[in-house]
Amino acid sequence: MLNLFNTLSQQKEPFEPVNPGSKEVGIYVCGVTPYDTSHIGHAMVGVFFDTLHRYLEYLGYEVCHVQNLTDIDDDIIKRARRDGVAYDELGKRWNQIYLDSLTALNVQPFDRYIPASTEVSTIIEIVQGLVEKGFAYPARDGNVYFRAASFQDYGKLAHLGEQELLEKAQAGATDSLADAPGNPAKESDLDFIVWQAAQPNEPFWESPWGQGRPGWHIECSAIGLKHLGTRFEIHGGGADLIFPHHSSEIAQSEACSGTSPFVKYWMHVGMVHLGGEKMSKSLGNLVLVGNALKEFSPDALRLYLLSTHYRTPLHYEATGVTQAEGQVAVLRQALEAHSSSGGAGLEFAAWLAGFLTALDDDLDTPQAIQAALGLAQEIINASREGQEVSAAQKTLRLMVGLLGLFLASAN
Ligand SMILES: [Zn+2]
Repeated sequence: MLNLFNTLSQQKEPFEPVNPGSKEVGIYVCGVTPYDTSHIGHAMVGVFFDTLHRYLEYLGYEVCHVQNLTDIDDDIIKRARRDGVAYDELGKRWNQIYLDSLTALNVQPFDRYIPASTEVSTIIEIVQGLVEKGFAYPARDGNVYFRAASFQDYGKLAHLGEQELLEKAQAGATDSLADAPGNPAKESDLDFIVWQAAQPNEPFWESPWGQGRPGWHIECSAIGLKHLGTRFEIHGGGADLIFPHHSSEIAQSEACSGTSPFVKYWMHVGMVHLGGEKMSKSLGNLVLVGNALKEFSPDALRLYLLSTHYRTPLHYEATGVTQAEGQVAVLRQALEAHSSSGGAGLEFAAWLAGFLTALDDDLDTPQAIQAALGLAQEIINASREGQEVSAAQKTLRLMVGLLGLFLASAN
């Protein structure tokens, strides 16, 4: 039985779709803001949710993976201005680099990939509803804010006290005036933007509150509600999105639909570090996937990313990927090993059971990889001794396929 760690309950919980017995599973993963993509942190999130997707399908579920593209926000407008290009051109270019890097790592295409700019009317409708119900208010600075105090347990996903939440909100404020601590237009520093008034020379849409554009958090609420409904199974992203982004999503979506919980399992992928610091656009300490793939094979990079449990921060080191390259070679050797015909054949059931038990335990891919490598070594040894290994190879191919390695489909 598959168990998943839920950030909301801080526990591993048996996996069961929202409608018991249903085979349909909705997964929403927060996408990127397309500039300076795509680094190892993006790859880690992409590869992890793709592996989860593959395993759910193996278990017989029909998965619908929805992802948003934040093609309109402060950062991308700022970057486009700096580089002297149109914001949508900039977005298009970096989005393509992002998608190419995922394809290079054998991440399957998302079932629905939704740019925020295509859902502005949905967003406006939701904001209108929130304002009508008193969950949001148009302020004198022209923005519309979500009233955090109106939503019971705002921030519960973060498991922090009220003061800590407030400090985190203030510390995480961007340099936009609306976000700044102490903005007198806001009732509280915990309140966050759902609709932002247009500044001169910025892209905008017409709305009941004048020309403007959506806030970041509301974009994911709107796309999730529209494409997966008021309750769905899995919502994921990097651990840095727990607060305020996902906490705000819960507030907006549940306030809008009147249904709780909006999401059954919240899953968060640990941050990637480089040289002791979080790998981030703002620090600029990025290892781009494209550059890593000049040095290593896609299978080695993917195996390396899965060699750390997804909730554990990954300290990226090239030596680790070199080691994974060696492991890929072992797996390949086992899949290509000669199988003699006749005889009892190599026993492999225990290795498969170990592999599946590991994945059932909150996608423990490091343990699953150990099981695959253990079986691979036995296949190599048994082949040398002239044993029949073809059935064991078939099982190893299944394991390698669940890990999403290209090797699974190689001849
Ligand atoms: Zn999101």
